[in-house]
Amino acid sequence: MFVIGLTGGIGTGKTEVTHVLRDLGAVIIESDKVAHLSYRPGTDAYEEIVEQFGKEVIDDSGVIDRAKLGGLVFADPDLRIQLETIVWPAVRGCITERLIQEKERGTKIIVIEVPKLFEAGWEDLADSIWTVEAPSASIAQRVNVRSNLSETQKNARVQAQMTKWERAERADLLIENSAELVDLRERITNLWRTNPEIQNAINN
Ligand code: ATP
Repeated sequence: MFVIGLTGGIGTGKTEVTHVLRDLGAVIIESDKVAHLSYRPGTDAYEEIVEQFGKEVIDDSGVIDRAKLGGLVFADPDLRIQLETIVWPAVRGCITERLIQEKERGTKIIVIEVPKLFEAGWEDLADSIWTVEAPSASIAQRVNVRSNLSETQKNARVQAQMTKWERAERADLLIENSAELVDLRERITNLWRTNPEIQNAINN
């Protein structure tokens, strides 16, 4: 099984890249989704979050209100680190378990989408790390269309990540998503067809 760690800045097109890779036959693990599951009611992470952040982060149905928690932690780097200290080990545990299951199932190519893969120090989970980046102007435009975050909130989220240059230097492959979506699809498809490690994993 060949494991691709997919990272990149906020709104750079990571999800679009996973859509193409899924169409090509890869299994995708989205770490953000895993994170939400890792702190569902009844988990240790849930208890720890409530203990550290108080009952005000729980909504009426007893679930952790991600918007509220996000508002708190992106306004205060110390709180963000506290939350990451709780959530990252739980998420890593879930991803590791999932990787074992997929291997047993005979999955050939798996993609773990982790926006903060380098910050979390999870390079060892992947055989190859790809980072998706895009020009700031394109990101601003794309993210504006989609989200209702204020300028300050968006900046706080960007500040909480490494810079694109740091990621590009550490990744095995840089995908510049600066053109149309069709171009991105074509680029990823070409990569898939020509990458020896991917082809090796598929044919073995
Ligand atoms: P996040 O960090 O918030 O999870 P992301 O990196 O997964 O974001 P996407 O959700 O894939 O980014 O892309 C952000 C938005 O930009 C989406 O609405 C997507 O459809 C759009 N988008 C991505 N790439 C392009 C492109 N090349 N041309 C036009 N729109 C694009």
